[in-house]
Amino acid sequence: MNQNSNVKVSPSYGIDRPEEIAASFQLPAEVVEFRDLARKIVREELLPLEQEFLPHPGHAYGLKEVLSLKAVFPAAVVDRLIKISRDTGFWYLLVPESHGGSGLSMLARAAVLEEFMYTAVPFPFANVPNILYHCTGTQAEKYLKPVIEGEKTTSFAQTEPNAGSDPGGMMQTRAVRDGTGWILNGTKMWISMAAESDFLLVQAVTDSAKRQRGGITMFLVDRNNPGLKIEEPGIRTWLGPRPAQYIVHFDDCRVGDDSVLGEVGKGFTLGQTWLTIHDRLMRGPYALGKMQRALDMSVEYAKQRVTFGKPISERQAIQWKLVDMYVDIKALRALVYEIASRADRGEDVRAEAAMVKLCASDWGTRTLDHAIQVHGAMGESLELPLTLFYRYVRHTQIGGGTSEIQRHLIARKLLA
Ligand SMILES: Cc1cc2nc3c(=O)[nH]c(=O)nc-3n(C[C@H](O)[C@H](O)[C@H](O)COP(=O)(O)OP(=O)(O)OC[C@H]3O[C@@H](n4cnc5c(N)ncnc54)[C@H](O)[C@@H]3O)c2cc1C
Repeated sequence: MNQNSNVKVSPSYGIDRPEEIAASFQLPAEVVEFRDLARKIVREELLPLEQEFLPHPGHAYGLKEVLSLKAVFPAAVVDRLIKISRDTGFWYLLVPESHGGSGLSMLARAAVLEEFMYTAVPFPFANVPNILYHCTGTQAEKYLKPVIEGEKTTSFAQTEPNAGSDPGGMMQTRAVRDGTGWILNGTKMWISMAAESDFLLVQAVTDSAKRQRGGITMFLVDRNNPGLKIEEPGIRTWLGPRPAQYIVHFDDCRVGDDSVLGEVGKGFTLGQTWLTIHDRLMRGPYALGKMQRALDMSVEYAKQRVTFGKPISERQAIQWKLVDMYVDIKALRALVYEIASRADRGEDVRAEAAMVKLCASDWGTRTLDHAIQVHGAMGESLELPLTLFYRYVRHTQIGGGTSEIQRHLIARKLLA
């Protein structure tokens, strides 16, 4: 580790940040308690595993937490983390009380998630797309419950080769009624971990005149449906050593009527519900954890690294980078807490969640960029999580709706 430098960089350095830097907003006592427990787990259980995780060829962006852990660590390590998650209740962090979950507010979830995002090592928990709670009857037994218990995984298939930013207008995948079921034809692209999923949440046009206004339906399609074919290997990106995104073909893919999630024609709205929370609001804590880690590491490194007879922390050029990172973190955290609290009050936060995503991805990218620069050559070392964090956060300027599209959503509200 760090052989060319006199600076000591331990695997867990940067974590003992002054509370003042971490403190913000008056969180309710029970949220602070839960957040602090998450912080303790990160320090004691996850950070010591990071040096093993980072260089491992098995990890891939988009792999769900448990799959990602299994790809890197022996079963005993994975089982231990799952046990901690279940014993503490974190397993059900994102599951509503009505389904045996924590019942935690969006604000609490944001505060806790930020902690787990402080390290590259994923913490296992029930990663349930919120739209799956629309499952009814046998759907709940077949799809929802196994996902909650970690026995099945799913992926979200909206994007197509010619339909990214404008899925409602450009989607070509169609579902046509056939007796008591439907036949799907079309191609989806960039679908994260499709090949590792047990079933896919697939959007298809069911009424081409209405499209996103009542003409797109969401289907639950089993991975082993003979009409569903996934191109292997997947698409390689800069996000990890393994491909995790896939092209998926539907070739006269037959599904029953009981495969419709929610109502026929309401699938586009369902997709937006998923994106608003998962890909927009929760992108805030997702970036914040990484940004805070980057700042903590940078402060510590800058105080130790000496050039021209002084630590670089005494140079204004470095101080300004640290300050810019600090200000971005403070501002983003305040925004996340405000919008999460408003979501908890039942407000429509679609445009505000877009604002969170925009700030998280833009500010997150520049914060990680500063951290890499402050670290000099060490910033580019794959022994540190900085370049991985940079790629993950930079990706969110594209994945789940680009920064331009977030601005478009915000402008629509601003100018309405
Ligand atoms: C790693 C990765 C994982 C992904 N995972 C999934 C997944 O699991 N499921 C899924 O369905 N999709 C997934 N995607 C797809 C992703 O959501 C789309 O790539 C994204 O929405 C952008 O679409 P596009 O690539 O077609 O860009 P385009 O729509 O072709 O846009 C190209 C550029 O033009 C800009 N642009 C487009 N329209 C406008 C406009 N009106 N005004 C101004 N600028 C505009 C865009 O912002 C962008 O900069 C993933 C993508 C990646 C890279």
